[in-house]
Amino acid sequence: MLLYLRHLTILAMLLLTTSATMAAYPAKTANCPTLDASSPEQREALMDHVCYLSAPPGSPTHDAGTPAELPAEAQWKAANGHDLVFSHTNAVYWVRLNLHNSSDVRRLWYLKLNYPLLDEVTFWHSGNHGTAVIATGDQHPFMSRGIDYRYFLLPVTLGSKEHATITVRVHSSGALNVPLSLDTPEATIAQSNHLTLTHGLFYGALLVFAAFNLLLFFSSGTGYYFYNAFYMASLGLFLFAMGGFANQYFWPDSTGFANTSIPMLMSISTLAMTLFGRSFLEIRPDSATDRVLKGQALASLSLIAMAFVLPYNKSIVLSTTVALIIIGSLFVIGLIRWRQGYLPAKWYVMAWSGMLAGALIYALAAFGYLADFLAREIFMQAAVGAQVILLNYAMVQRWRLLNQKLLNVEQNARTELELKVHERTAQLRNTMRELERANRQLATLSLNDALTGLHNRRHLDNLLPELCAESRRNGQPLTIALLDADHFKAVNDAWGHDFGDQCLQHIADILRRHVKRPRDVTIRFGGEEFAILLPGTSADGAMRLCERILEDLASAPVKTDNGKSVTLTMSAGVAGLVPGEDERDLFRRADDALYRAKAAGRNRTELSAPVQS
Ligand code: GH3
Ligand code: MG
Ligand code: MG
Repeated sequence: MLLYLRHLTILAMLLLTTSATMAAYPAKTANCPTLDASSPEQREALMDHVCYLSAPPGSPTHDAGTPAELPAEAQWKAANGHDLVFSHTNAVYWVRLNLHNSSDVRRLWYLKLNYPLLDEVTFWHSGNHGTAVIATGDQHPFMSRGIDYRYFLLPVTLGSKEHATITVRVHSSGALNVPLSLDTPEATIAQSNHLTLTHGLFYGALLVFAAFNLLLFFSSGTGYYFYNAFYMASLGLFLFAMGGFANQYFWPDSTGFANTSIPMLMSISTLAMTLFGRSFLEIRPDSATDRVLKGQALASLSLIAMAFVLPYNKSIVLSTTVALIIIGSLFVIGLIRWRQGYLPAKWYVMAWSGMLAGALIYALAAFGYLADFLAREIFMQAAVGAQVILLNYAMVQRWRLLNQKLLNVEQNARTELELKVHERTAQLRNTMRELERANRQLATLSLNDALTGLHNRRHLDNLLPELCAESRRNGQPLTIALLDADHFKAVNDAWGHDFGDQCLQHIADILRRHVKRPRDVTIRFGGEEFAILLPGTSADGAMRLCERILEDLASAPVKTDNGKSVTLTMSAGVAGLVPGEDERDLFRRADDALYRAKAAGRNRTELSAPVQS
């Protein structure tokens, strides 16, 4: 950024030095040689043939209204090849040119005064046929020029070998530039055509940009598009007026407005650039910078009003000074925003450098330090054009940045959403797993006996019909053994209910130890009543199993709290499923067998004989 600033300073200094040399040419003693209008070389060297007379207020020459009223001793000075450029002055300037047509034919030339903003311009053409006068200037209606052209054109017709003297009286309240040239009609038309093309392109582009930004504003509602359109339109109008086009096309008859329009349009432009800068650089409302910008806007507004009240030479100096301050201040604010890391400010600053250069050229010209009006106008248009393009590019950059921000926000939101969905899904999965476990637990609880951990009566009721059906289907044996603790009431009575429970758990442990096949099921279906379902086991096998259980129980006494051993016994009844039988029959036969075992003295196993049909 520092390097960039250095380049800018060098450019500004260069401009200042060139302008200074232009303004400081020495005035020599008058030598106004006659110019042969038919010689292109001499026409090219017009300023070597021009003399001028400066008539400051108070001097006798100042009051002279015609060449005839000029005092004889008036000191004419030679222009010596330089353009006539005078900074803000109240003096009247007289310009004289002696012409001669050395050719053999009568011809027409145009003396052009290429500066539109002159209040009073009077031409005297004295030749063989007397003196013709054209009084014009932007204080006269536009049509006083005789020729519809934004600059001042004096048609000069010279007969063969004719001599003539052209005298021009110029008076203006602003800077006084008298850039003269003498051209053939062909060259005048050609140059006018070229200028029309470049101006057309320039103002056309500005208009398109302004219209485009206005459309963007209407469709997006974004303020800075509007301010950009406003800025480009006002700047375009200001340059249009400066170039003399506004006088020609917009207000050809409003002589007073020709002068007022310049400071007014300049202040409208500074108002527009302030508003645009404020919105484009995203200045925080009510910050110190914002207050500065509001002050600038207010100053511009009051200058717009003052343009109608103050005399032109005062309001133009005031407006130009304020405009330069505002342009400089916007440049500095842009730099600050760039330093603060606001990216589009970089492009704004670059664009504003073009404005700075343009403003400098304009100021130098306005105060009469820069000659060659045409070159200056083109240079200024190039600077403004570059600035407009860069500003619009800056807007694209700004838009891109906003878009990027928006995309990032969207991306973040999407990632966050995805994360949340993942989180929620995981939570849901966990909950479902827990629910499943709870369900399983519930199922187990509902089918299990809390005291012994064996299956309960409900499980028996569910399972037995299924096992019977399966056995009938596949022909595999199904046996059921019912076991009942002997004299258990006595155990409870003697040792207490808790000890009774302990005994029941002891019995369950023994049952679990013996009933080991995967499909075998042990059930506590009553207080001290147990059942063993043995699919795929024959009645003999079941008998043997029960006998082993009974032996084991009888040989493993349970210890009471006070160290006594209590021996438990059980009786068992076994029944195998026979064809044509249902689960109720099977159960009843096993119960009968158990009953027989009890009746036969307990601690024994009885087999149910199949029912004889
Ligand atoms: P039998 O040899 O004829 O089967 O005699 P018994 O005393 O075992 O007969 P009965 O069926 O009349 O008595 C069963 C007793 O089992 C009654 C009750 O005191 C006891 N009992 C039943 N369920 C439980 C239990 O869950 N815990 C305890 N501690 N005792 C129980
Ligand atoms: Mg019982
Ligand atoms: Mg019993």
